Amino acid sequence: MIRFENVSKRYRGTNKPALSEVEFDVQRGEFVFLVGASGSGKSSCLRLILREDTPSEGRVVVLGRDVRTLTTRKVPYFRRHIGSVFQDFRLLPGKTVFQNVAFTLQVIGSSRAFVQQSVPEALALVGLEGKEKRLPHELSGGEQQRVAIARAIVNRPQILLADEPTGNLDPATSIDIMQLLARINAGGTTVVMATHEAAFVDQMQRRVIELRGGVIVRDERHGGYGDTSQLPTLAPETVKGAAATAALTAVLELQKQIASHELAAEDALPERAVPPAPQPETVLPAVPVVAEPVASVSEASSPVHSTPTPPSGSDTGTRSVPIVPTEVDLGAIEGLGAADRLGLGRGDDDDEVGPTV
Ligand code: ADP
Ligand code: MG
Repeated sequence: MIRFENVSKRYRGTNKPALSEVEFDVQRGEFVFLVGASGSGKSSCLRLILREDTPSEGRVVVLGRDVRTLTTRKVPYFRRHIGSVFQDFRLLPGKTVFQNVAFTLQVIGSSRAFVQQSVPEALALVGLEGKEKRLPHELSGGEQQRVAIARAIVNRPQILLADEPTGNLDPATSIDIMQLLARINAGGTTVVMATHEAAFVDQMQRRVIELRGGVIVRDERHGGYGDTSQLPTLAPETVKGAAATAALTAVLELQKQIASHELAAEDALPERAVPPAPQPETVLPAVPVVAEPVASVSEASSPVHSTPTPPSGSDTGTRSVPIVPTEVDLGAIEGLGAADRLGLGRGDDDDEVGPTV
């Protein structure tokens, strides 16, 4: 889904490369933390994924496309499949919550009917029902970030990139936002979150890729931050542990609901945005959403376990929760405006974005 092949990035006028020979591969459905100190290259990685920049050396392959081969004209269509959120929210200050979320859809020419249906859905998902008419300055920081997340996912992207999304938020609100990102991931969206905050990473027990000076020094599935003794903590351990346990319990509950519910039919939609093609990424089974034992949260302060993790793809043990039904009710998808949702039916030549390389 996202592959960095020997990627180096040098910015003009700088001696030291921002990224050096970076290699990693993110499978569909994964939740990946990109961690490292300020200046370690996290944002540079995200900008390469979003094709805001191109590598100096190596290849970045996203959704089956070498991003360098995308023509300028194709870039906007490519980006429809990728939502992004940032530390500073980037909301339009003069527009209401509804208008901020609707804006994404209006820019890509979605129908009025689709906007009227999708925006409330996205706002409900992020827990902002009833706040449609507020202006950004009338919201808390956490609520503003929820608007930004709703805006990022309203078009049902396959990938959600979050660059320090909790950087401006207090610890409790940060946990809420993390819980929301985990929920979105549980619905099948691949999530890459850059952060320098150790606490969340330890507690979430998800894959961690750590950068130091533009070099990957750790790529650990279900890993933590490693030795956290040198890192500042955000809140007393007990509070963090309790909050994170509550958050993860809610996530697990939601995963169960998704697995057994009609929600799954809708969550399959993004999968259909990419036409199947004989490409290794699509042949491999998608990484399933794995229900982490809640117990692991309460053990978050213990040393990171070093149990070798099986390669993704074979990680289909008993804890896995299938999130995509084998049969999707195509009639129901029609009813949801799938063609509109997926940017089809307008002849926007989006069809080439997909695992074709
Ligand atoms: P992080 O997001 O981990 O803080 P960045 O990717 O923003 O790291 O930055 C990595 C390195 O690249 C830093 O040394 C930074 O100063 C440098 N850098 C980032 N963007 C630019 C740019 N546009 N021009 C020059 N140097 C940059
Ligand atoms: Mg950054």
